Formats: sequence, structure tokens, C-alpha cells
Amino acid sequence: MLWLLLLISCGAILNTLTTFIALRSELNELFDENMLQLAQAFSEIHQNEIIYKPHDHVHNSSFKGEEEFLIQIWNHEELVYSSKPDVGFPLQGSLGVHSTAFQHEMWHYHRLDKSASEIIQISQPDHVRDDLIWEIYFKQFIPVILQLPIVILLIWYIVKDGFNPVKDVSESIEKRTHQYLELIPIEGVPDEIKSIVESVNQLLNRLKHALVMQRQFTADAAHELRTPMAALRLELDILNKAETREEKRESINNLYKVTDRSTHLIQQLLAMAKLEHESELQVEVNLKPLIDSVIEGYKGLALKKSITITNKCADHVIIDGDSNALSIMLSNLIGNALNYGHHKGVVNVDVIFEQEKLVLSVEDNGPGIPEKDRARIFDRFYRVLENQQYSPTGSGLGLAIVKSIVELHDAEIVLVDGINSGVKFNIIFTNKLRRS
Ligand code: ADP
Repeated sequence: MLWLLLLISCGAILNTLTTFIALRSELNELFDENMLQLAQAFSEIHQNEIIYKPHDHVHNSSFKGEEEFLIQIWNHEELVYSSKPDVGFPLQGSLGVHSTAFQHEMWHYHRLDKSASEIIQISQPDHVRDDLIWEIYFKQFIPVILQLPIVILLIWYIVKDGFNPVKDVSESIEKRTHQYLELIPIEGVPDEIKSIVESVNQLLNRLKHALVMQRQFTADAAHELRTPMAALRLELDILNKAETREEKRESINNLYKVTDRSTHLIQQLLAMAKLEHESELQVEVNLKPLIDSVIEGYKGLALKKSITITNKCADHVIIDGDSNALSIMLSNLIGNALNYGHHKGVVNVDVIFEQEKLVLSVEDNGPGIPEKDRARIFDRFYRVLENQQYSPTGSGLGLAIVKSIVELHDAEIVLVDGINSGVKFNIIFTNKLRRS
């Protein structure tokens, strides 16, 4: 509003300034023309033999009227008539319209020579012209000055009124808290800010979803941690009551298993929480060495179960992604394939191109996942009952984490049949592909 008012004030000043300059030039032209006409008129009168007696006339000696001129008739160097005898403006040398300095100010004059004995000189001091110019100027300027506060008030009112809906929307947004995330009503919102309100509503929806997820996660985590803690307590009770060496050893073994399961669960929970709160910078990731490094971490387990892991990825397959998250994703998929895979089985990791898509797959020849469980397999804490025996430390979080990472990369995960009865997880990247 301030800028608008400043602009209008500058416009008004500029307008009056240009008017003043134009007015001055037009009036100067007009007065010069008047002097010429007056000189010609006097030369005519003289021709009709009207003799002037300068000192017989009563005249004001000073210039009071706006259109006043000093009219002088000269015979050679001798002044024979003056409309203002007290003003001693001398006869000028140049013919036509000119200006000259006289008694500390500029004068305009017009000299017309009818003959050497009939010289008519009309002159006028500049202050007479300036007085008139200023008078006209002020008459024009004062209405502008008077209008300005009215215009300013009107603008202030219009702008304030125009911004009322924005103020309403801003107040509605201010009322929103993490407990009150109702959408901002879109009715009555001016078109100009509708898109902003729609964006804010989308943000509120995302926030709502994130909060629901967070609450769900905390509830699930608390619930899931209770089971291993109870098991731990139970095993400690058993150990306490154990009498024979045999009983004690069995109890200690069980304690190790429960602790391993809890550790795995906590690790998965932390990985999940980290993923939900930090989305790292997407950078170029070379898939081949990333897969190799994950496989390297499972060498011991693979050896123990005599499982052959193959990385069939070509040397330079680069995608835009979060290498840390991709590594967790591969680790969960390869870890599952090894944990649930049969003894002397195989695990194949491959990367292929299908049209414009890149498909990363992890396949095994283990027990597979029954059809009835496939729809829920990516849910948090969901475990297939029949397969629990293969991985006693499982938490049911691994595939949920994989799904989150897949979504983080705008990719898609599809579960298909693997070798024999095994499973194959295909991750399909569309946008992130760089080059192969
Ligand atoms: P978990 O920690 O139990 O392995 P996941 O979320 O990783 O949790 O997997 C969920 C369930 O899906 C597992 O409990 C398991 O029954 C099944 N599953 C996952 N991967 C495989 C696989 N490669 N072969 C067979 N079953 C699998």
C-alpha cells in the first residue's frame, strides 16, 4: 500500500512538473506573439498620424497587470512615447524578438523599425510572465493536492477491503495445530489465493497422514517390544529356578535367542524411524558395488547355509537415489532370501532393463510366500506363520522398511514366483534411471 501511495504521489508531482514546463513554454510563445501584434498595431496607428505626447498620459510606472507591456516609440535614439515613462528600458540593438538583462532581471522585447524615425519597441520583464505562470500553475496544482488525501483514503480502503479474505485465511491457518488439522474452507476464497489454500490443505492432509503413521508406529513399537521383554523376564525366571546344569544351559541359550530377537527388532525399528524422519539427498548410485557390499555382509550366513549368492548386475548401472536407504533395502531382501532360503539353495540378485524401466530383482528358491499372505506381506509386523521357523529373530518390519524405501524412490515393488517354490521381489524404477 505504501508503494502504491508513493507511486501515486510521484505521479502527481511529475504531472504538475511537466504541466509547468509546458505551460511556461506556451505562455512565452503567446506573449512574444502579443508583443509582435502590438508592435504592428502601433506602427499602423502611427501611420494614421496620431501623435503621441509621452508625458501627457497618466500611466502606472510599475508592471501590475499580468498582460502588461512597455510600449515605446523612438525617433532615432530619442524616446517620443512610453506607456510607462518611469521605466527607462533602453532601445535595443537587435530587430525582432529577443531577451536581454535590465535592472537585474531578464526582459523580452520586440523591436520593429518602420523607419529610422519610427521605431516601435514593445518589451516586458520576465517577472510579469512568471507571475502569471505561477498563478495558473497554483490554480491547477491545488486541486491535485486536495484530491491526493481523498485518493489515498480510497486506495487504503479498497486495498484493506481486498485483503480481508487473505486475513481470514491467515487466521484460519493460525488456528491449526498438530491436534487440529481440519482443512481450510475453500468457499468464498478469492480465485487469486485459491491455489495457496489448496496447497495448504494438501500439506495439512500430508501432515495428518504423517501424524497418524507416527502414532501407529509408536503404538506398534511399544506393543512389539513388550513380547520380547516378557520372554526375557520368563527366561530369567526359569534360569533362576533351574536346578541342574542342563536346565541352566538351556535357559541361557534361550536367553541369547530372545536377546538376538530383541536386538534385531530394535535395529529394524530404528531403521524405520530414521527413514520416516530423514530423507537424504538423492545422488548418483552405482548399483553393482552397492549390491556387492551388501552380499559381502552376508558371506558368513551364506556359508553357514551353503547358499550361493550371485550378483548378475552389469558393471555401470547408475540411478539417482539414497545409497544408504538402498543398501538397507537390499540388505533386508537378501537377508530374508538367506534366512528363509533352504540349505544349499541359491539367491540371485539381478538388474535388467525393460523398455524405459530398470528392474532390480532378488530371487530365491526357498519355501515361498503363500498366496493368501502376499497382500499383507508389506504391512508392519506381519509375519507368515508357516515360515516363522526359518527366521526366529524376525520382526515383521523388514518388508515394510523395503516398501518405504521403494516409495522414497518413486519406484514400485512386485512379488512374483521365484525359482521352484521360492519368491522373487522385483523393484521397478522409472524416474530415477540415469544410464547403463
Ligand atoms: P521378518 O523380520 O519376519 O523377516 P519381513 O517383513 O522381512 O519380516 O518379512 C515378513 C514375512 O514375509 C516374514 O515373516 C516371512 O514369513 C515372509 N518372507 C519375507 N521374505 C521371504 C522370503 N524370501 N521367503 C519366504 N518368506 C519370506
